[in-house]
Amino acid sequence: MDSTGTGTGFAARGHDHGQCVADALAMAEAVCARRNARLTRLRRRVFEMLWAAHKPTRAYDLLDRLRSEHDGAAPPTVYRALDFLLEHGLIHKLESLNAYIGCVQPDAPHRGQFLICEDCQSVAELDDPDIARRVLAKAHDLGFAVRHQTIEVSGTCADCSEARDERGRDA
Ligand SMILES: [Zn+2]
Ligand SMILES: [Zn+2]
Ligand SMILES: [Zn+2]
Repeated sequence: MDSTGTGTGFAARGHDHGQCVADALAMAEAVCARRNARLTRLRRRVFEMLWAAHKPTRAYDLLDRLRSEHDGAAPPTVYRALDFLLEHGLIHKLESLNAYIGCVQPDAPHRGQFLICEDCQSVAELDDPDIARRVLAKAHDLGFAVRHQTIEVSGTCADCSEARDERGRDA
């Protein structure tokens, strides 16, 4: 597991998150430059907000934060920025939470597989091509045409499991 927090797996406690954000922004800029896509100030700001923590964020929370920075940020503005970021694979949408999260590997096309902690809302992206291939193969066998594949798994992360065990011992 990558101790810097980026890469697959849960971000380590006490990691240098400033570095995660800097790395994510650098990757996003590189992806956009390669595709001649414009990472406007607003898109960049939304992206940064999604990277504020390794946790999913809902569109209306983004909107609230944007409004606190400048008046007149309307829902379509936020949704257009999110659509742009989704289209370029810079973020993922977690349907089960109706929320968005920054992608850890935007420079490589992939399907998302996510472990979502129900206690602290931390999310780990697995990005395992074998899982994606297996799902596609099974779907193909059933004559099912896959349009979009995102796997979301809910549960408890290691840190929260540990905390629960400690609480259990104290009780
Ligand atoms: Zn981080
Ligand atoms: Zn991703
Ligand atoms: Zn947790």
